[in-house]
Amino acid sequence: MTTAAARIVERWAWAEYGRCRDVPDLFYNADDDPKGLRRRKEAAAKKLCEQCPVIQQCRAHAVGNRELYGVWGGMTEAERHRLAGRARTG
Ligand code: SF4
Repeated sequence: MTTAAARIVERWAWAEYGRCRDVPDLFYNADDDPKGLRRRKEAAAKKLCEQCPVIQQCRAHAVGNRELYGVWGGMTEAERHRLAGRARTG
């Protein structure tokens, strides 16, 4: 493995332990998901995050890298946008 590739693998090592690994669709909304379904998916995803052993690393990644979409580290898109002082676009 090249050094750059090794750095990428190391940078994402925490993700191996995420509770979302087997249910990635729960963590992202489709464009045509109705608002009620979006809210229910976000609530269910956040419950999984609460039990996740890498929630701190995940949240730090999402906030630090300005992840725009999905639930990361127990935070919804809207919550991360508010934290960053941005208006929600999606
Ligand atoms: S905190 Fe949530 S989004 Fe992050 S790895 Fe864990 S389950 Fe997945």
